[in-house]
Amino acid sequence: MNIPRISLIGAGPGDIELITLKGIKAIESADVILYDALANEELLAYAKPDAVKVYVGKRLGKYVYTQEQINYQIVQLALEYGHVVRLKGGDPFVFGRGFEEIEYVRSFNIPCEVISGVTSAIAAPASVGIPVTTRGYAESFWVITGTTKTGELSNDIKLAAQSTATVVVLMGMSKLEQICAIFTDYQKQDTPVAIVQNGTRDNAKYLVGTIEDIVSKVKTKKLSNPAVIVIGEVVSLHPEFIETYLKEEIRTMRG
Ligand code: SAH
Repeated sequence: MNIPRISLIGAGPGDIELITLKGIKAIESADVILYDALANEELLAYAKPDAVKVYVGKRLGKYVYTQEQINYQIVQLALEYGHVVRLKGGDPFVFGRGFEEIEYVRSFNIPCEVISGVTSAIAAPASVGIPVTTRGYAESFWVITGTTKTGELSNDIKLAAQSTATVVVLMGMSKLEQICAIFTDYQKQDTPVAIVQNGTRDNAKYLVGTIEDIVSKVKTKKLSNPAVIVIGEVVSLHPEFIETYLKEEIRTMRG
């Protein structure tokens, strides 16, 4: 009989090589793996051939299991099989509901370790060459959810729009227009914006623009979820931004 225990692991942003060595070792020893849509399925190849694999993400846009059902399954499977790996996209403590899961598990006195992952909030912009901080451009960065528990836009966006921080919005694509409207309210229509979809994966897409034109660019290029929205001066470091906007400015200045 295997001793029940849980490893809550960050799978990284998509590229399978962006998981930690500790994460891989936990997958290798797992008796059961519960994984989400954003965790790269190729990571399952590291599991023992007889490990039980359960997909608990969305199917056809709908969740197959509620959070309560997932919590319950984690515990039941640990009691039945032993070592359960809970594999989540990015980092499990960045909008991953990871803490809710370990709290539930620990209430059954089952030990639970957390293995951090590379979050898409940093890695998706980095994958197209955009740093979240850079001297002279941004002294801090905010990572905000576009969609709160109630489905509304987080009020933190308003606060962030008044700062000089880099603002990274996750789960925000359906609210892009609203987000841009808030930045426009604070006279930030010229602030650079980048959208990175499926960052670090083979099917990655991105575009750069400004608060003023990003919505129409997204429509033209048909970018959608999963994507991060990066707002701030750091985006102006991207070669395409320089080419499209800054060279024009220089040309205008020169007359
Ligand atoms: N825990 C995850 C975030 C989960 S919330 C992390 O740390 O990355 C889900 C949101 O993450 C998506 O809506 C999207 O905004 C973002 N996301 C996850 N993977 C992504 C990727 N490869 N490229 C772009 N955005 C991604």
